[in-house]
Amino acid sequence: MDIFEKCYLYTKADEYKKIDLYPYFHYLETKQNPTVIMEGKERIMLGSNNYLGLTSNERVIKSGLKALEEYGTGCSGSRFLNGTLDIHLELEKELANFLRKEDVITFSTGFQTNLGIISSIASRRDYLIVDKESHASIYDGCRLSWGIMKRYNHNDIQDLEKVLKSCQGEQHGRLIITDGVFSMGGDIANLPDIVKLAEKYDARIMVDDAHGLGVIGEGGRGTASYFGLEDKIDIYMGTFSKSLASLGGYCAASHKVVDFIRHHSRPFIFSASIPPANCMTALEALKVLKENPGLVKKLDSIASYMRTQLKKRNIKTKESTTPIIPIYTYDEKLTFVISKELYDKGVYVNPVLPPAAENGQCLIRTSYMATLSKDLLDKAIDIIEEVLTKYNLIEKKL
Ligand code: PMP
Repeated sequence: MDIFEKCYLYTKADEYKKIDLYPYFHYLETKQNPTVIMEGKERIMLGSNNYLGLTSNERVIKSGLKALEEYGTGCSGSRFLNGTLDIHLELEKELANFLRKEDVITFSTGFQTNLGIISSIASRRDYLIVDKESHASIYDGCRLSWGIMKRYNHNDIQDLEKVLKSCQGEQHGRLIITDGVFSMGGDIANLPDIVKLAEKYDARIMVDDAHGLGVIGEGGRGTASYFGLEDKIDIYMGTFSKSLASLGGYCAASHKVVDFIRHHSRPFIFSASIPPANCMTALEALKVLKENPGLVKKLDSIASYMRTQLKKRNIKTKESTTPIIPIYTYDEKLTFVISKELYDKGVYVNPVLPPAAENGQCLIRTSYMATLSKDLLDKAIDIIEEVLTKYNLIEKKL
């Protein structure tokens, strides 16, 4: 059998292209701003994770340019060998300090961070107990590890307890892994109850805070801080590709745990380090965040405004309290049709389909930046309402 047979049989993308509904790989010709030029036309950006709008912050851009001048374009090596710069160490120190953890190591992407932490921490007999709606990189980290993956229903504490009960035994270690803010649903993990169960069943906790850093918690310190549970979360990971306006990821934990990962994690050891400009921009963005906690409040008020407006217009959203607000479109094809019509009318959103959504529960994921103006939000919501009305997706008031 030809190993490429599956490629020749794969036609779904072409089918959607033929009917002009293919929603992926639209290209931008500008910065990641509240409005962008995408394929020649101005569109309101409601599909970015640039939560604080720092990708176009002057200070952050200047820092990147300076890093390019000083350190060149790349590191040409792993952190383990020639690829450690003084600014990598400074970034790790600043982050550890901000997150109130003993130590931090940085990886070249957020995805790699999950691969690198989970695969090095879980040995053959260890249980990895994962929320079903966790990010793909958590799943892939589990697959890459020797550990035994068990899944529990999304944010379902009773189910988590059931799973934990089935994972007992002296020779087994246990690590509960969850997103802090869930990437697709925008809801927040029930950390207080997870912490109680972890204590009861002798498990450790790892939180992926890709969408929590810069978004919730004191000064944007993330989900653990939001619940006042910073000292109860054993491993905290996140990325630089969202609020921190760059590329890369981090693992924050006790010194002993970080040092073990530093010396055992293959995705860390055998991959080139974060390029200088990305490292410096993440560091500068972190400094901007530290100095301007008001940015986090601004983001929150924008998300609240949008949630209230969507509710007022009877638009059915998934419950969330974060700047990720998913809107129900249910059917897969209809989700493509709506994404396309919104796009044509000047609003960019992300379609969410199975496996990221349940069958028949497809969504358009809208996400917000602290730099969006009320005028733009009002304009976007008018367009959303118009398109959803056309497809009978506005709930009738009783
Ligand atoms: N974890 C979560 C929850 C994410 O949403 C993402 C990115 N979508 C990642 C990890 C991976 O991060 P990155 O894109 O920075 O590699």
